[in-house]
Amino acid sequence: MHNDIEKVVISEEEIQARVNELGAQLTRDYEGKKPLVICVLKGAFIFMADLVKRIEVPMEMDFMAVSSYGASTESSGVVRILKDLDVSVEDRDVLIVEDIIDTGLTLSYLINILEGRKAASIKVVTLFDKPARRSANMEADYKGFVLPDEFIVGYGLDYAEEYRNLPYIGVLKPHIYSK
Ligand code: 5GP
Ligand code: MG
Ligand code: MG
Repeated sequence: MHNDIEKVVISEEEIQARVNELGAQLTRDYEGKKPLVICVLKGAFIFMADLVKRIEVPMEMDFMAVSSYGASTESSGVVRILKDLDVSVEDRDVLIVEDIIDTGLTLSYLINILEGRKAASIKVVTLFDKPARRSANMEADYKGFVLPDEFIVGYGLDYAEEYRNLPYIGVLKPHIYSK
């Protein structure tokens, strides 16, 4: 285990098993369709890579980068688009792949934008859901794990851009935040 991690919250094996289940469910639900699967960078990139391998329908992928937190662990409520989509979402069945929904502000902002661009349908799959601090009226259509209000890192999720490469989800030792 990484020296900065206080405890592992979800193991690599548990994550992989749940990702496989979500992939199977999405395979059934998108049967006969050709979704545009959108990865919200950076946090969702590992989930995206593992999930799309388990969705067995034809699809296209695109990537969008947004920033809502800066380097801190608190949402600023201000969402910036750092990288927009390359392709049009008009008349497409869009599946947004998110790492985690906390306040929901980031996602509700994104969904608003994509609705304005006339997507045929918009669904959200998030690996982690933290409903405790939800302020936007926002529910994911598919979720991997519902978690308590605790700041987690690993499997794509960072603290000040570190720890994304951990294959599990963990909580940092408190002294790391006061650096
Ligand atoms: P929201 O707008 O829903 O409050 O936050 C969404 C984004 O905040 C996530 O995509 C993620 O980048 C970041 N975030 C929220 N909770 C956590 C957490 O527990 N750990 C990490 N590393 N990032 C989080
Ligand atoms: Mg995210
Ligand atoms: Mg972050």
